[in-house]
Amino acid sequence: MTAPAAQPDNAAQLLDDLLSGRLPDRRGRFGPFGGRYVPETLVPALDRLEGGVKKYLHDPAFQAEFSAELRDWVGRPTALTPAPALGRAWGAEVWLKREDLAHTGAHKINNALGQAMLARLLGATGLPCVVYMGEIDCERQSPNVERMRRLGAEVIPVTSGDRTLRAAIDEALRDWVSDPVETYYLLGSAVGPHPYPYLVRELHSVIGQEAREQVLAQAGGLPDLVVACVGGGSNAIGLFHPFLGDAEVEIVGIEAGGSGQGLGQNAATLAHGRPGVLHGTYSMLLHDADGQVQETHSVSAGLDYPGVGPEHALLASIGRVRYATASDEEALSALDECCALEGILPALETAHAFAGARRWAADNPGKRIVIGLSGRGDKDMPTLAKYPPGRVTR
Ligand SMILES: *Cc1c(COP(=O)(O)O)cnc(C)c1O
Repeated sequence: MTAPAAQPDNAAQLLDDLLSGRLPDRRGRFGPFGGRYVPETLVPALDRLEGGVKKYLHDPAFQAEFSAELRDWVGRPTALTPAPALGRAWGAEVWLKREDLAHTGAHKINNALGQAMLARLLGATGLPCVVYMGEIDCERQSPNVERMRRLGAEVIPVTSGDRTLRAAIDEALRDWVSDPVETYYLLGSAVGPHPYPYLVRELHSVIGQEAREQVLAQAGGLPDLVVACVGGGSNAIGLFHPFLGDAEVEIVGIEAGGSGQGLGQNAATLAHGRPGVLHGTYSMLLHDADGQVQETHSVSAGLDYPGVGPEHALLASIGRVRYATASDEEALSALDECCALEGILPALETAHAFAGARRWAADNPGKRIVIGLSGRGDKDMPTLAKYPPGRVTR
């Protein structure tokens, strides 16, 4: 775990503001983080989206339709599964919030569905879909590319920049800037300019709301620890948010420790980053003294991003959530352990949360742990083929 930085004097007030909905504020800020740093041409589109969020997101009719789609099409609520074999191995009581069981195999569908419904209310018709994806990520998650094309999306491999998530977001933003009126930009994590971080969190909070109810009903009490992996931070913020007011629940986010602590070897933004602006938001960022954004490395495509959502930056700064890292090696080992002991193949991203939970359990014996199982690992088979099983190390 990294040592927590000095907390601001108003940490308790900031948490209270967040819990009571006073944050994000009118400028879209989570304390010092967040806001909107975009070209002038995007401001009307973001204003329109913000207006739509205000008008529809908490409207009972929208919520009823969203809930019905989540139930009938996505398959919610997803299970909270006890993991007794992992629990025995770790000396803990382990519960898995199974977003891998959601339709399409990961949490992202909650947000994609909610934003598509919002886009329709904002006037979009037909919804032809163009997906920008880094060339490297197309290769390492090729099953996802095949599926998206089969389902009718146009997938454009991005060959510029780092050829991963950051470059893909750059290209998507460029596309949007060229036609902000006729295009809806469906941002897939809790990052970007206001109102995206707020909107994405609200759409994913169903994860934590369900998990909290389920753990109370199934385990008879709140967990001691809630843990999730953090790329941009959408599955984590969705799971964490409903637990933020439970002071007795410790919350830990796990970033990609990659192959080491050096520049370019990881994607651990909150562990190693400094404040800065990327993709329209002010948050923590991996960049050098000249403001040059750094290349990142992670074995998992979804965590391989030099930024992080502004709400996580706030939660880190006020000490409500701790952020730690798991290396590529630790994640692969945790993935194999989950396969062997529970018969569940988690995504490589998710495996980082397991590695972090395992380490926490070693320091805190006998505790109840809820792990956000953000997605299934089928998409990672091209990468996993390079790492044969049977390498569980402890
Ligand atoms: C995309 C993805 C992540 C990382 O994105 P967040 O926005 O940080 O949640 C984590 N797990 C899975 C399975 C993913 O697909």
